[in-house]
Amino acid sequence: MYTKVAKKGGVGFNNSMFKIKNGLLAPARIVKSPNYDDRGDEDDISLIVIHNISLPPNEFGGKGIEQLFTNTLDKTKHPFYEEIHELRVSSHLLIRRDGEIVQFVPFHKRAWHAGVSQYLGRDVCNDFSIGIEMEGTDFEPFEEIQYKTLNDVIFALLKNYPTLNSSAITGHENIAPERKTDPGPYFNWDKLSLMLKAKLPARCEK
Ligand SMILES: [Zn+2]
Repeated sequence: MYTKVAKKGGVGFNNSMFKIKNGLLAPARIVKSPNYDDRGDEDDISLIVIHNISLPPNEFGGKGIEQLFTNTLDKTKHPFYEEIHELRVSSHLLIRRDGEIVQFVPFHKRAWHAGVSQYLGRDVCNDFSIGIEMEGTDFEPFEEIQYKTLNDVIFALLKNYPTLNSSAITGHENIAPERKTDPGPYFNWDKLSLMLKAKLPARCEK
């Protein structure tokens, strides 16, 4: 899929398939979430946060995640939905088990994915980060196509937002260690590190 191209300062990758326009990624399927607001500074997008999610828990392929992020989750459909249906949350992207990408919030807007969090001494990571949900759990490996898609997505983001950096990518569990465990022990950071030539996840303590 990639064309390796010589680039000033080293070897880069030119991915022609993924494009970002007006904060939206092609070829993502757009499902608009109302759960976002303005960033304090649209020019300060400097962190990528990886999550995992599955709804119902540990089940893949259903509509639960899209319903949660669009405030349409039916609390009668699953006991867990009773607990979470009033949450007002979102992410910029979801990468499904089959590699499909769903976008809920334009990148220049602030998605509500991280909650109370800290990165290098800075609070409120939602302000300056892009949130990517991997459909998955803390208990089983992610699909190969999900890594491939994530890699393509990150290259498009790095190209479009020069304030991002391949070494400033981390997990929700690292910016909110008291509260969160995702993307969890089965997320293969070594694989992502190799693909992006960076040491990941990024250290988050100041
Ligand atoms: Zn998370």
